[in-house]
Amino acid sequence: MKTHLVWFRRDLRVADNPALAAACRDAGARVMAVYCLTRQTWQRHDVGQRQVDFMLQHVASLSSSLAALNIPLLILDCDLYSEVTEALMALCQQHTVKGLFTNAEYVLDERRRDALVKKSCDQHAVDFHQYGDRLMVSPDSLKTQQDKPYQVFTPFKKKWLNLLSLKKPFPTPTQRADIGIAPDGLPAIAVAHEHWPIGEEVAHARLQRFCENKLFDYKNKRDFPALNNTSQVSAYLSQGVLSANQCIHAMFDALQVDTISQLCSDAGAACWLSELIWREFYQYIAYHFPHVCQHKPFKPATENIVWHKNNAHLEAWKSGRTGIPIVDAAMRQLNQTGWMHNRLRMVVAMFFSKNCFLDWRLGERYFMQQLIDGDFASNNGGWQWSASTGTDSAPYFRVFNPISQSEKFDSKGDFIRRYCPELESLTAKQIHQPDAYGKHELDYPPPIVDLKTTRADAITAFKKLN
Ligand code: FAD
Repeated sequence: MKTHLVWFRRDLRVADNPALAAACRDAGARVMAVYCLTRQTWQRHDVGQRQVDFMLQHVASLSSSLAALNIPLLILDCDLYSEVTEALMALCQQHTVKGLFTNAEYVLDERRRDALVKKSCDQHAVDFHQYGDRLMVSPDSLKTQQDKPYQVFTPFKKKWLNLLSLKKPFPTPTQRADIGIAPDGLPAIAVAHEHWPIGEEVAHARLQRFCENKLFDYKNKRDFPALNNTSQVSAYLSQGVLSANQCIHAMFDALQVDTISQLCSDAGAACWLSELIWREFYQYIAYHFPHVCQHKPFKPATENIVWHKNNAHLEAWKSGRTGIPIVDAAMRQLNQTGWMHNRLRMVVAMFFSKNCFLDWRLGERYFMQQLIDGDFASNNGGWQWSASTGTDSAPYFRVFNPISQSEKFDSKGDFIRRYCPELESLTAKQIHQPDAYGKHELDYPPPIVDLKTTRADAITAFKKLN
């Protein structure tokens, strides 16, 4: 009897999982699953404790779902990616595994890890199977007319929409015969964060609630952080508890349409789809331009920028004490919940890299350490966009003014009040810049930088590169 082994990574779900579905297709095969703990590599990748807990809680949940199908989930404690190959091969030999089933990942270290495992599989006569799952359109199929990878989002999106061929989500496999192997236990796991409940079902319920109640107004309301009108499914997408395919199908169901062009005629759905395509775009960039995975800017010339070294500014930014209320409220949201609204991610990243003129890589790193949805490609893409070092990034001369952003997107100051209670008594006008209104009696610092002069200095520094 053949034995199939499904190696789970950032695809922690049983529904719509191509690798799992393929391994289960042969009704007579024994199917087992494996997950590799690689704590040292996670640390090197700056994956924060909050995300590690979230991930392990989902591994535990996955293990129960698989156990109900009589597929035992085994755990390999490897520390580093470099130890994975040997541990997996030993497991394959122990259970005479015929096929190893995985879903592809696109960031450099993960690709290198997989290439080594595949090579070893070839040497040990284990069939290595890999499926496209994380992205809706294979990054190899998306090229310009000159057969080059895209570097600009809009033409990428156009081609992506042309190439998209939607597949029905794979159903959860049916229960198999018991193979008499018990799943491994997992290390003790912290209690789930109240805002980030665990499991495929809750993730689906969140997705469905969003599509039914908020999708129609997403375009109009998504930019206002106090409204909570975005889906907040990023952490689930990041760990593969949800697939992008399921997100698109959830939109179809909510709108009762069957095709992408019908879906795009709804402004809210078209806008949300576009955000999902940004997610794909950044994975695509990491895949085709792997230098971005090695702490390098996408635009090599920007490597010559001499960023400031100012530890006091760095710490003020991290702790939400910069004296710019919208920046501080956003950073406190990140520190307290592990998530930050997208507009605010852009505002704080631009304030960091342009007004404080700190090296964007330090901000990228802090985000990764704090975010529950930390995803290398999206985080790197977002930071390089904000710092104007990236592909299709904000032009260096268009520096957001955080006060204007605050007045526009949090006009009454509701979001600021939620995270900066010391500013609660201020009026809707004063709350965006207490210092300018002479509110020095509050336990709140004056701005750490002058927005006008730092903006001009940043533009001058970038201009010199051109
Ligand atoms: P929604 O608005 O509901 O969007 C739906 C999904 O689309 C998101 O869950 C996400 O998967 C994707 N998405 C939305 N906006 C973007 C975007 N600009 N780029 C890429 N994908 C997007 N997203 C992460 O998932 N992980 C990160 O580590 C991350 N770091 C970021 C850092 C910076 C500096 C910036 C500017 C953006 C970053 N983003 C990151 C993108 C975006 O901010 C989050 O995906 C979004 O805020 C998640 O909230 P949501 O699920 O409610 O999004």
